[in-house]
Amino acid sequence: MEKIVALCKRRGFIYPGSEIYGGLTGTWDYGPLGSELKRNIKNEWWKSMVGLRSDVVGIDAAIMMNPQVWRSSGHLEAFTDPLVECLVCHQRFRADKREEIAGHENSHKAEGLPAGRQVEWTSPKKFNLLVEAELGVVEGEKQKVYLRGEITQGAFVNFENVVSSNRVKIPFGIAQIGKAFRNEITPGNFTYRSREFEQMELEFFVRPEKEEGDKWFDYWKKERLEWYKSLGLTESKLRFRKHEDSERAHYAKYAEDIEFEAPFGWSEFEGIHHRGDWDLSRHKLGYMDDQGQKFTPWVIETSGGVDRSALFFLLNAYQDDSKRVWLKLHPRLAPYKVAVFPLLANKQELVEKARSIYDSLKPSFMTAWDDRGNIGKRYLSQDEAGTPWCVTVDFQTLEDDTVTVRDRDTAEQERVKVSELAAFVAKKLE
Ligand SMILES: [Zn+2]
Repeated sequence: MEKIVALCKRRGFIYPGSEIYGGLTGTWDYGPLGSELKRNIKNEWWKSMVGLRSDVVGIDAAIMMNPQVWRSSGHLEAFTDPLVECLVCHQRFRADKREEIAGHENSHKAEGLPAGRQVEWTSPKKFNLLVEAELGVVEGEKQKVYLRGEITQGAFVNFENVVSSNRVKIPFGIAQIGKAFRNEITPGNFTYRSREFEQMELEFFVRPEKEEGDKWFDYWKKERLEWYKSLGLTESKLRFRKHEDSERAHYAKYAEDIEFEAPFGWSEFEGIHHRGDWDLSRHKLGYMDDQGQKFTPWVIETSGGVDRSALFFLLNAYQDDSKRVWLKLHPRLAPYKVAVFPLLANKQELVEKARSIYDSLKPSFMTAWDDRGNIGKRYLSQDEAGTPWCVTVDFQTLEDDTVTVRDRDTAEQERVKVSELAAFVAKKLE
C-alpha cells in the first residue's frame, strides 16, 4: 500500500487535496496520469453500459437538488451511521467497527490510563452523512441545500422526464457518472474512503414481479463482475458478499457487494442493489405500459465507485521484480498508450523523425514524449506510468522507416514499419 501511495504521488496519479495548506481530510486531487486513468475508467464504463446497449440511456443531473428530494428518499432520516464516542479523548468511531474500537482502547491502555480507569464509550448516536451547503445571496435568507450523498436520486427524479422524452420501455436503465459527497466519520485507506468521490451508477427499471427482479439482479451481478475482469482485475481477488439484514441500506430489498482483496482486507467497491419500488414510490412516480396498465417499477441498481475502482486497478496492476517496477494496467485504462523517443536527444535527424511520429500518433492516442536521459531510464519511467508501448527512433529508422516497439509487460522488442504503427497500436487496443 505504501508503495502505491508513494508511486501515485511521485508520478502524478494522486495528490493529497489542498496539500500546500496542510490538506483537507478525505479529499484527493488527481494529477496528469491519474485524471487520464479515471477518465479511461469512466469512458469504458459508459461505453459498456450506454454506448453498446439499446436498453440504457445516460443522464447528467445536478449536484445540488431541492432538499425535498432527500426528505422523500429517506436520506435525511436514515442516511446515518451510528457513532460511539470515546469518553477519554472524545474521538468518534462507527459503532460497527469493532476492531477499530478495540484498537483505540488498546492505544489508551498502552499510554497508561489513570489507576482503576477503563475506556468507556457513549451509547451509539446517529449522525447524518449529508454535506450541507447554503444557496442564495442575502444573509439570513439563504436556503439550506445538500450536496448529493449519492448520484442515484438524479436518475429517479428524472424518471418521467426520460420516459416521456425518449423511446424507452421497461425494462430499461438510466446510467450516470458523477460526484457525490459524504461527511464520512473516518476517511482513510488512501482514496478508499473519501468525503468527495465519484460514482458510476445504473438504475435499471423492471416490472414489479419477483421473477423479473431476480432475473435482472443476477444478470447485472454477472455483467458487472465480467466488466472488471475484462479490464484486468484478477479473478481470485474478486468476490461477492451478501449484505446481512442489519447492514442493508434503508432502500434495499437485498444487496450484494463486489469486493476486492486490498492490502487492507476485502473491500467493497461496487454494490448491486435490489431497491424494489422504494424510490419511485417515495417520489410518487410511476409508469404506464402499452396496454395502459399503471404500476411502480422496481429498480435493480449497480453502484460503482470510480475512485475505488481506480485505486484497485492500480493496486492490482503494481508489479515489482527487483529489476523494475511497472503498472500492468489494461492498455485501454493506461494513461498513455504509447511513448515516443529519439534514441539520442542530440542527433537532429533522430529527433525530427521521432517528433513527426509523435505528432502523427497524438490525434489518435494519448502519446508521451521523452528525450531525457538514456533509453533504459525512459523505459523504467514509462513502466511506472503503465505505458504499454514505447517506440524508439534509431539510426535504422532513417534507413528503412521502421521503429523499435517495446512491450511493457514482456520488455520484448519488435520492429514495426512507421506506416503501420498507428494500426499496430489500434489493433492492440481493440
Ligand atoms: Zn479515546
